[in-house]
Amino acid sequence: MKFPKATQTTLISAGRKKRYTQGSVNSVIQRASSLVFETVEAKKEAAKNRTQGALYYGRRGTLTHFSLQDAMCELEGGAGCYLYPCGAAAVTNAILAFVKAGDHVLLSEGAYEPTHDFCEHILKDLGIETSYFPALIGRYITKYIQPNTKVLFLEAPSSITMEIHDIPAIVSAARKINPDIIIMIDNTWGAGVLFKALEFGIDISIQAGTKYLVGHSDAMIGTAVANERCWPQLRERSYLMGQMCDADTAYVTARGLRTLAVRLMQHQKSSLKVAKWLAKHPKVERVNHPALSSCKGYQFFRRDFLGYSGLFSFTLTERLSEVQLADFLDEFQLFSMAYSWGGFESLILAHQPEEIAKIRPISGANFEGTLIRVHIGLEDPDDLIADLSAGLDRIKFHKNKIKALQSLV
Ligand SMILES: *Cc1c(COP(=O)(O)O)cnc(C)c1O
Repeated sequence: MKFPKATQTTLISAGRKKRYTQGSVNSVIQRASSLVFETVEAKKEAAKNRTQGALYYGRRGTLTHFSLQDAMCELEGGAGCYLYPCGAAAVTNAILAFVKAGDHVLLSEGAYEPTHDFCEHILKDLGIETSYFPALIGRYITKYIQPNTKVLFLEAPSSITMEIHDIPAIVSAARKINPDIIIMIDNTWGAGVLFKALEFGIDISIQAGTKYLVGHSDAMIGTAVANERCWPQLRERSYLMGQMCDADTAYVTARGLRTLAVRLMQHQKSSLKVAKWLAKHPKVERVNHPALSSCKGYQFFRRDFLGYSGLFSFTLTERLSEVQLADFLDEFQLFSMAYSWGGFESLILAHQPEEIAKIRPISGANFEGTLIRVHIGLEDPDDLIADLSAGLDRIKFHKNKIKALQSLV
């Protein structure tokens, strides 16, 4: 798929104003709580411009934060970018910034599980109700919008199961009913590069920068890039909630941006190769990779996204027992078993259909075999295929077992 060339160049230059770099290539790391005012007049000036890049107090950010915030705004086309200590904080504070008791949040059932949990526990206790819509609903989103729906929260592709929304249909139908509805997306998979959320009329693009922005599995950060309309409220409410991240993390995130395009291009190439190989494997039922037509919402992906990353899933033809799961997962040489993704290394996790059913309140799980989620890292894809091939060979399916037992009787 076409990869945005302009983005490659933006990722190199963004956020590197002289004010931030002070003669070096990268921004300085300015660690600070107190920022000193030379005069009463300077303090007054700083207070006036404290949301416009003036150095005021550490919680409002330092040159290192401003550099990353500028870069993210340029990358995602926003009016402002708030930085949070992790992706979950970005999701929850973005929602909290716009809701009050009596409001309703409409959440994609395919959203990241902790987002569901936040709505079910914290928002519920605050008197804010949440309901869900199926990821593939498209323009029929109108059936789910209530008079008190304040926030419409999307995530594409869906967490784990990878369905792709028809985003233009959802956005235009929702705005027809309520032009003021706040539309947010968890855009972590697209890294702000593969899907230009704000160009699609979405108000706030949220990322777990922990994943591709940082890219090396060694720091946690959340970002939320907002348009003109939502930026002041997002900024001030997040600030009141005490949200910020340290300068060192902001620095490594900005450094991650410099290689984001080349990393994503390799993730894209390798993940497609592995996905195509899996699609032909006799023990694999279905591959949920957005570049393949077997992925639900593939046609919307082709139309709206600029490329694909390294995270996808596939289902096996059977549900693995605990023993089979251990046989499969315990012996991988290159794939590690761990949460998170977006780093340089390959990861693998398994989910049983009943586990997925629990986090899909409308649709349940529409598959029977065990689901495997992989993040294809930057290793040679042929080595990854060999590792997966050996793993699949280790699985002894029930049918074979039953047949073997029958032959003994
Ligand atoms: C990981 C992740 C988050 C949460 O990010 P953390 O930095 O782990 O808090 C949110 N949304 C999605 C889609 C994620 O994958």
